Amino acid sequence: MSRSAIYPGSFDPVTYGHIDLINRASHAFDEVVVAVAESTHKNTFFNIQERVEMVKEVAGGIDNVHVESFKGLVIDYARSKKIRVLIRGLRMISDFEYELQMALTNRRLDENIETIFLMPSEGYSFLSSKLIKEVVSLGADITSFVPDSVARRLREKMGEKK
Ligand code: ADP
Repeated sequence: MSRSAIYPGSFDPVTYGHIDLINRASHAFDEVVVAVAESTHKNTFFNIQERVEMVKEVAGGIDNVHVESFKGLVIDYARSKKIRVLIRGLRMISDFEYELQMALTNRRLDENIETIFLMPSEGYSFLSSKLIKEVVSLGADITSFVPDSVARRLREKMGEKK
């Protein structure tokens, strides 16, 4: 039986932390769908096309990884693809409360869909898309946080928004 998993998120933008998780998931599952959320409670910096393109640029080359966007509930999206595993990441204890709430809410929505948590390598455990956007706006060097293609887009977009 082939085992597939969905890794959902806003990826605004994708960082080395997300990429670390995508790699780990790609070793643990036969197929990984990185699902970029079109509608998110967060006001995203990059639009959905940009967020999908960036993930494709950095992870689309891995054989068993596919990148897609989705709208609405991740549970509905997982059902539509007949995939029963969701991957989420845990960096610090601070992620735990929100991630637990979300996993249990999703379980209540569909008992058959399981959330599995992966931990990034320690070197990436402090990385967040939010902080990267903050520091790049203040002129920081972000080459150790995101791949070059993402860093370029961040700088371009910061310039446009100024
Ligand atoms: P959200 O889906 O909550 O908008 P993100 O798109 O940033 O957040 O992240 C998607 C998932 O990846 C979340 O489970 C988040 O905890 C995890 N994640 C984000 N950054 C990292 C990182 N540096 N290392 C490991 N996991 C991460």
